[in-house]
Amino acid sequence: SLAAADIAHTLHPNTNLRLHEKNGPLVIARGDGIHVYDDRGKEYIEGLAGLWSVGVGFSEKRLADVAYKQMLKLPYYHTFSSKGHEPSIRLAEKLAEMTPEPLTRAFFTSSGSEANDTIVKMVWYMNNALGRPKKKKFLSRIKGYHGITIAAGSLTGLPVNHKDFDLPAIPVHHLTCPHFYRFGTEGESEADFTARLLAELEAVILSEGADTIAALIGEPLIAAGGVLPPPVGYWEGVERICRANDILLVADEVICGFGRLGTPFGCQKYGFTPDIMTLSKQITSSYMPLAAIMLSEPIYQVIADNSEKLGIFGHGFTASGHPVATAVALENLAIMEERDLFGNAARLEGVFQAGLRSFADHPLVGEARGTGLIGAVELVADKPTRRPFAKVGRAGQIASAIGHEEGLIFRAIGDQLALCPPMIITEDEVGELMARMDRTLERLT
Ligand code: PLP
Repeated sequence: SLAAADIAHTLHPNTNLRLHEKNGPLVIARGDGIHVYDDRGKEYIEGLAGLWSVGVGFSEKRLADVAYKQMLKLPYYHTFSSKGHEPSIRLAEKLAEMTPEPLTRAFFTSSGSEANDTIVKMVWYMNNALGRPKKKKFLSRIKGYHGITIAAGSLTGLPVNHKDFDLPAIPVHHLTCPHFYRFGTEGESEADFTARLLAELEAVILSEGADTIAALIGEPLIAAGGVLPPPVGYWEGVERICRANDILLVADEVICGFGRLGTPFGCQKYGFTPDIMTLSKQITSSYMPLAAIMLSEPIYQVIADNSEKLGIFGHGFTASGHPVATAVALENLAIMEERDLFGNAARLEGVFQAGLRSFADHPLVGEARGTGLIGAVELVADKPTRRPFAKVGRAGQIASAIGHEEGLIFRAIGDQLALCPPMIITEDEVGELMARMDRTLERLT
């Protein structure tokens, strides 16, 4: 059977492999709108849009048509040595138009991890070119997620992505996670918490030396670490401190970008302007693998000068700007615009967040949180003290299995149950998703 072949031959990413050998895979056979169907025909609401990414849903024929046509016309060409092709040029132009003002240049990779690895290298390259070889450290946050390759995985602030992989492997300092519920202290207000985080940032810069710190990277809202909206005033403060110390600000918008938070980009929700931005996932609704790095013009200019000095900018991937992936991205962004899917996320924010917040009364829910069309409920052993379960992740696993029975797929991040449905979801479908979540939580008690 398919399940037996999977158990015999696949090493699944991000999986407890021994448990997988026991339980076998959930084989998804097809998709339709916000739904997917397993190989036995059972229907699920895909409450996480795959991996936070299938914005236009699972049956957008226009993307299949564009990919097919592009494959017939020019299935592959590269972008090395001044070569180009229309889809990647048009997408770079489109992204420069869509993203906030200072971002003018696009560099393409196939994944968010490669993009963040590339950003580290670009920033190092830039600072070497500027004669500041010491300015190389990155600041990141505990529970931030930036991917799993050597540099990106180092920026990630989750123990499971570091332990026994010998990460971090680049100079990175992880700052306190900006999640008030878990990292706020007894009696501290949210404003005090923000002030403490900003004081920490200033203290780290002072002790390490601003001349050694190149950049701070962060997701506007930490997503894969548990859907953690930042405290009020956090990003404005971080931006102010970075500017004062000549530290670049990198917004990792791999999940927050393209309308997820109810604004086109997450940085706009929280009122800051990055020097560099990482984009992926909803850029193609994950129909094709693609990521983009957006750079401000001054950064580009330094890199360009150095490429002339050294002969070339010696970095790039076989699939950088892949024509099928970039053609699909252009069509996907056109669909999002035509159907006003960013607006849909903003319009449904109220009903989606109210649905989530209604679970806060449940005896095992410590916090129900989120913004736009993304959210999570955090399960705890004891509500008043916020005490987590002794065996972290067990309750999440049980909830996930019940969710499947109820026809709902969400992501259990430890004991945090994350929701991030396709951006095409309707109000009625949000109601149905919440009803399935409600039944799942009821059965958990
Ligand atoms: N950055 C963020 C914010 C992400 O959420 C992810 C993936 O979830 C990545 C980077 C890494 O992307 P990829 O899995 O495509 O390497």
